[in-house]
Amino acid sequence: MKKIITIGEIVVEIMAVEPGHGFTSAIPLIGPFASGAPAIFIDQVAKLGQPCGIVSAVGNDDFGVLNVERLRRDGADVSAIGIHPTAATGSAFVRYRPDGNRDFIYNIRHSACSAIGLTPEAEALIDGADHLHIMGSALFFDGIVSAIFAATRRIKAKGGTVSFDPNIRKEMLDLPGMREALAHALENTDLFMPSGPEMFLFTKAIDEPAAIAELLERGIKAVVIKRGADGASYFDRNGEMSAPAFKVEEVDPTGAGDSFGAAFVTCWLRGMAPGKALTVANATGARAVSVKGPMEGTSTMAEIETFLTSQGVAA
Ligand code: ADP
Repeated sequence: MKKIITIGEIVVEIMAVEPGHGFTSAIPLIGPFASGAPAIFIDQVAKLGQPCGIVSAVGNDDFGVLNVERLRRDGADVSAIGIHPTAATGSAFVRYRPDGNRDFIYNIRHSACSAIGLTPEAEALIDGADHLHIMGSALFFDGIVSAIFAATRRIKAKGGTVSFDPNIRKEMLDLPGMREALAHALENTDLFMPSGPEMFLFTKAIDEPAAIAELLERGIKAVVIKRGADGASYFDRNGEMSAPAFKVEEVDPTGAGDSFGAAFVTCWLRGMAPGKALTVANATGARAVSVKGPMEGTSTMAEIETFLTSQGVAA
């Protein structure tokens, strides 16, 4: 089986229990939860039973232990997660507004993530990998960017593949070098997985068909568009297909795109037909939004099959 890796931040997430409150006074909080888009992605890949690992760093603290033990327990290779001797594990505080949108307070820039880079353990993990998944959210430190591009070169040189989820946070777009890093990631991408309008940051086109045509012309093999409660679509040179989302109560949207992406990439690498892969990925995303906590709604294949059966879809 092909080994999937990703490179980037591991954090804990602490959430306001009730929507609508800021953090300017004492309020009930819940957490810490294991989190970080690349960590959620790799946890979901691991739960599907695919060999996988992550290049990252945590602090020498309980938040680090929480994350590393969680990923290890779920089956990810944690050998390339460094332990920073002084900096703390990154954290994110999230509150939900009454309209369902989220506000985050991040403490990542000066966290252990600043130490992520090409350590000997990272090199060993990269050399044993067949597929790299790039998360746009991770492209914020020079060390991470160079590790991602070194991994891209090495994996592609031996015939491996790259997927890319731009996962763009608006506050990151103006960081120095960010737009160049995103463009470089796209140039090396086989499977591109934007959320709806994100693709327009990468193309000159103003409508979706033209944007997809431009991306495929540039050598991307397949594009998967995530559409939240509207499901997802798949495009390649042979055509396109869409699959509706499953009807579930959305409790917490954090992690849906990462879990969806993990399931789609795993199915794609296993050679599953795109329509079936979209169905499995939509089921994984639906299960992710039904549970509170960024990584608490990740699924095993058995759980996805049970969910599909409960929805009247042949597993
Ligand atoms: P991102 O978080 O990357 O923007 P989306 O919000 O599009 O990603 O969610 C990814 C996938 O998760 C969707 O394509 C869909 O399959 C599933 N999903 C997201 N929100 C819902 C929802 N409210 N109900 C059912 N499925 C959902």
